[in-house]
Amino acid sequence: MFKRILEELGREVSGEIAFNFVSEISRHHRIQASPGLRAAVRYVVETLRGHGLDAEVHEYPADGESYCWSSLMFREWSCRDAELRLVEPEEEARTLARWSESKFSLIQRSHPTPGGCCEAEVVVLENGEEDADYRRVDVKGKVVLTNGDLARVYEMAVERRGAIGIIFDGTWVRPPALLEGELDDALRYTSFWWAGDEKPCFGFVITPRTGRWLRALVEKQRRRRKPVKVWAKVDSQLHPGAIENAVAAIPGETDEEVVVVAHICHPQPSANDNASGSAAAMEAARALQRLIAKGVLPRPRRTIRFTLVPEMTGSYAYLAENEERIPRMVAALNLDMVGENQDVCGGPLIVERTPEAAPSFVNALMEAIFDEVKAEAGNLGGSARYALFKHAVTPFSGGSDHYIYSDPTVGVPCPMIIQWPDKFWHTSYDTLDKVDPAMLRKVALMAATYAYFIADAGPEEAIWLASEVAARERRRLIAEVQAHVTEALNAATKGEEPGRKLAEARLKLRRKVPYLLGRAVEAVRSVRRLAGGDPGYGAVEERLISELEAAAKAERKLAERAIADYAEAKGLAPLPTIRGGRLRKLEREAAGIVPRRVYRGPVSVRPWLRKLSREDRDAWWRLGKEHKESRTLGTLAMYWVDGERSLLEVSRLVELEAGRTDLKYLVGYFRLLRKMGLVEFA
Ligand SMILES: [Zn+2]
Repeated sequence: MFKRILEELGREVSGEIAFNFVSEISRHHRIQASPGLRAAVRYVVETLRGHGLDAEVHEYPADGESYCWSSLMFREWSCRDAELRLVEPEEEARTLARWSESKFSLIQRSHPTPGGCCEAEVVVLENGEEDADYRRVDVKGKVVLTNGDLARVYEMAVERRGAIGIIFDGTWVRPPALLEGELDDALRYTSFWWAGDEKPCFGFVITPRTGRWLRALVEKQRRRRKPVKVWAKVDSQLHPGAIENAVAAIPGETDEEVVVVAHICHPQPSANDNASGSAAAMEAARALQRLIAKGVLPRPRRTIRFTLVPEMTGSYAYLAENEERIPRMVAALNLDMVGENQDVCGGPLIVERTPEAAPSFVNALMEAIFDEVKAEAGNLGGSARYALFKHAVTPFSGGSDHYIYSDPTVGVPCPMIIQWPDKFWHTSYDTLDKVDPAMLRKVALMAATYAYFIADAGPEEAIWLASEVAARERRRLIAEVQAHVTEALNAATKGEEPGRKLAEARLKLRRKVPYLLGRAVEAVRSVRRLAGGDPGYGAVEERLISELEAAAKAERKLAERAIADYAEAKGLAPLPTIRGGRLRKLEREAAGIVPRRVYRGPVSVRPWLRKLSREDRDAWWRLGKEHKESRTLGTLAMYWVDGERSLLEVSRLVELEAGRTDLKYLVGYFRLLRKMGLVEFA
């Protein structure tokens, strides 16, 4: 159905043109609410206008006071110059960080140094996140060297103990994609995210290698009872200003629309994150505009809109500004880090699905297009075609603009195309030489095909898409149920009470299958709006849904049979009956909490933390630290919150979606969100 669109676009979309866009965007230092972001947004708008698109700059206040939904608009920030020099011991004097060499060498949004420039002693912190780290050091009036969590160190060292500046030398290790030492000479993207009333502070970033050297020097001097001193100068400004989105459109014939979003912010150059996504969106826009102008593709029914925005902030602003248009946004797509040269950066090209709380046809469509793009090489006999690049389709994980669109309170289904992991993500190594035009071409092609197909879809396309959705959902259900059986049988081969484990697995199936069926049915139903009220379409939908119901029933039977047969063969039959059992204390607590959402869109927590007492801020910090792996569960849980489900029910849905839950984390998380005014309890 989309094949002709893909073929026509295939003749027009150019990886080289997209690469040139990356090169231009990556020249700008694109911090949210800054002259560099403004220049990049203007470049996009002028370039797209040059290609015949209807493009404009949307401007919003960047005053540190206005909110779009729960998201605070930053104050504008600019920096003319910054430098950090080691001045004592004199024999070791040298430059440690220089803005004119790398924009990564400064902690973004640094305040100006007091008195224009200053000299201060350097104190090494053992990451500086805990009170214990300060027992033997006095940081007052000094500059702290840390590789800990910046926001936490700022609060502990600067706000609570009077340090005046921060030197950061942190790095990441993410085996097997990123090994120890690989980023020894890279600077990590680090920023203050002011909420307005904090104590001013500046900071610099040095490489892990320089950090080790400086730590050793401080230690050596300490033994001699001599200080290490730095001279720092930051010539910057934070002030009420403006923040911009670039918005371009290919007008359709109705008032419905499809949105392609990419974030354009981040430090210069940040080529893959995310000049690449912005460039792929631009190239998709250019190619579609050209083919429509030439009459190769007809003008679509619906408008296709491209929004290149400061990450999250720009999407919150755009959606909050256009609330009345949201119900007419049929679908969206997020492009984030899509230009990677896979041999160098390491990660695969990923299609990330929408969250399970908001099922949609978009996943099946994007996957079908992906399958077609993957068929790039063939075997000798010509009987198979497959990809030469690394690829994956993954469940929702969040972390970029799609998590705002896909939130059920917004309700615009938005998958994401991304390459992850990328070894050089958020570092000074994310440079133009790591961008692959061939990869940009693939992604621009996928994005343009997806956007145009949805924009132009009517009853005929809906019939194909509904059957594609149903088929893919059925496959998913079969795969997930069988994975459950495998896991149950594996668990029963070891440890105690194998019979009980099998019985529990059987019980879980009774929850899992209806859940999966529910997702599948809703995804099929979501196609209906594309059919535009066509009278024949209802019967198609009903038939597909009843077939899905029959398939789910059959799968459950087969799975139960497999468990029963195994129990029989192992001499475990008959399996014990599992009763509901009493709720544990924590479960009782969660059952009594019915959260209600206050704001549209995900909660943007950072500025709201300031509303908590110091004790609660510590509790928030500890919760995040002790449940590091559970943080994404908070986002998923929020999507399931509907003002009626208890937190226990929400947690059970999260478990069905993610394969795990963390009730202790969720109870703590929602209690603190309530204190911040971000949720209410019914
Ligand atoms: Zn990023």
